[in-house]
This record gives sequence, C-alpha cells and structure tokens, in this order.
Amino acid sequence: MILNEVRSGGSRSRSELVTRTGLTRGVVAQRVGELIDLGLVVENEVGPSTGGRPPRRVTFRAEAGHLLVADLGATSIDVAVTDLDGRILGHRDEPADVSAGPERCLQRIEELFEQLTDATRDLPGHLWGVGIGVPGPVEFRSGRPVSPPIMPGWDGYPVRERFAEGYGAPVWVDNDVNILALGEWRSGIAVGHDNVVVVKIGTGIGAGIISNGRIHRGAQGAAGDVGHIQVVDAASVLCRCGNVGCLEALAGGAALSRDGEALAASGRSERLRIALEQHGRVTAEDVARAASFGDPLAVSLLQVAGHRVGLMLASVVNFFNPSLIVVGGGVAQSGDQLLAAIRETVYRRSLPLATRELAVQRSSLGALAGVIGASTMVLEQLFSRDSLAQWLRERRPAADLSA
Ligand SMILES: [Zn+2]
Repeated sequence: MILNEVRSGGSRSRSELVTRTGLTRGVVAQRVGELIDLGLVVENEVGPSTGGRPPRRVTFRAEAGHLLVADLGATSIDVAVTDLDGRILGHRDEPADVSAGPERCLQRIEELFEQLTDATRDLPGHLWGVGIGVPGPVEFRSGRPVSPPIMPGWDGYPVRERFAEGYGAPVWVDNDVNILALGEWRSGIAVGHDNVVVVKIGTGIGAGIISNGRIHRGAQGAAGDVGHIQVVDAASVLCRCGNVGCLEALAGGAALSRDGEALAASGRSERLRIALEQHGRVTAEDVARAASFGDPLAVSLLQVAGHRVGLMLASVVNFFNPSLIVVGGGVAQSGDQLLAAIRETVYRRSLPLATRELAVQRSSLGALAGVIGASTMVLEQLFSRDSLAQWLRERRPAADLSA
C-alpha cells in the first residue's frame, strides 16, 4: 500500500517503500509513477548525496484536494475546511439547537461551508470528501441517524444523500463519539495505542472504541452506546431513551445540571444558587466550576457521577482490556474531580492484569476535537484499500464512493 506508507511516514525513499511493502523495486517505481501522474505524490531530491545518485524522497501532496467537515453537537455547530492531511485551513463555530431538526441544522452547515470556502485563500484542489458528526446513533453504512433520543425529526434522515447531491463528493456520517475517538487516535493523546476506549461525557454519555488499530462500530454502528447501560434499578430515574436507571440519566451533563439546579433551589449550595440566579438555570459546567472552588456539594455530585462512570468503565476494562481510556466532552473538560473519581474507581474495580498498563487520560484535542475527528474519518475512508482502488481509476473520489 504505497500511498498509505507515504502518507503515514510524511515522506519515504523508494528503498524504504521496497522494504516496508515487500514489493519489488520495479513495482514500487511503477506505482510511484502512477501516483505522481495523479498528482498525489511528488518526488524530490533531498540532502547531500553519499556518492552515486542523490537520495530522493516520495512525499504526499496534502494540497491535492480539500475536505469539508462538520461536528454537530446538541447545542453547537463546528465546521472546518482541511487539506488531505487533516490540517485545518479554516474554522467556524456557533451555538445551535439540534432539536430544531435536520432541515434547519444542515442548511446552516451548508451556509457555513460556503462562508468557509469563500474565505479560505488558495483552497487546495477539488473537494474530495465531506464528513459529518451528529450527537446520536448513526447507521454508518447508510449515513442515517437511527432513533436518536435528543434529535427529533432526524430518524432515518438521508444526511449522506443530501450532501452528496449538493457537493458531488463522497460523504460519511458518524456519531460524535466515534469521531472524537478517531481524532484522539490519529492526532491526539491516543496516538500509538491499538486498543482504546474514548468516553465522552457531554449532555449524554457515549464511548468510541478503537480495537486492534481500527474503529469498532459493531454490526449496525451502535457499539459503544454505554450511556444506556442500566446502573440502578429505580423506576424514578427515567432516561430520555425511555428506559429507567441508565448511566446517562444519573451521571451525564443533563443529570448534573438537574441535580445542581435542585441544590441551588434548596439553597444548600451558595455558588450554585448564584449561578441559578444569574442565568436562570444551572449547567454541568456551573457544577464543575463550583466544585473547582471547593463547593462540597458540587464536589460530591461530581464524585458520585465519576464513580458511576468508573463502575461502567471497570466492566468495559475487564471485558475489552484497553491500554488507554480517554475521557472527553464538555463536562470532563471543565474540572478535575470527575476525572479523579473515574480513575480511582476504574483502578479499584478492574482486574489487576487489565490495569497493569492502563492509563486514564483527559482528551487532548480540546474544542477542535470534533472537526479533527471528522476529517480523520473521511481520510480513513478515502484512503482505505478498497475505496482507493475504486477511485484511483476515476482519478478523483466521486459522490457514489461512500454509498
Ligand atoms: Zn437510556
């Protein structure tokens, strides 16, 4: 796989390519020639010669095309234009409401895409792919959300078809957590790990799984939906999915906001009472902020939530044996207490062999994680062995590549 060897190495000499792929010198020369013809690589002389012919490097041309990516959250939209290395050339973000439905949200994404492409000078090459992340379950093969709990009107909506028709490029759609996992694995804290669980604690809770160096989506794309694992058997804890006792209903951002608001209304927490008075509501971030100032009741809310997430993760660790757990999402980013409680519970409740080399780390990509992950998803798909063979014949990726 010459192209992916060049992509992953930044650049390679022909003899490195022979060694790394096991292909003969003649075949490598022929493939490199084809890729140069297609404009995907260049070959340059670099460095001083040690005698004989000067050394030449084959380098990937990230400027051969560009991608448009969007990460739609429950309350925000992030869009970016990137090159074929996933380097961000332009970025926009703004508040949004996913419950406004697909027409409103996707039209806004299209407007932002247009603004970005207009504003980006020297946009490289053609549009080669579009990547969209949404905050709910997606059937990856069809690119359609399936019964997403916080996305009324989105069930079965043909997100891929809409963008493929509008842009004439292949389109991939996935849930926000898989996208976060891909971003952390390719360019964040999970680089170099082959078995990783990325848990995102935002409004809800979900996990993305990297297994043996590949994203694991499961048979339909529902793998990692850990927020709806039942953790208590109490009819009073009703989840937005319709079941009772789900982890998410007890420890997600919406749950922290609900419990924080109750504390504020009772007057038992001064900091939360002030937050409620100022904004008319208490967010999970308010709880995290109050905890970071030492508010004992806010600290206790985060500890209980972290303990519950940790218990779920301990089961996942015993079942799956990752070398790294990454904790991300708005709630996890905003304070240390939650992560500390998760870490402590995971180590205490998992088997010693499974935790011997297990690290539990905070997500490293920050606010750009969604768009970085979405571009990673598109690049993984574009340069997979199967799709590469298909589109190289047509010289550039067509819209039906993703179908
Ligand atoms: Zn649920």
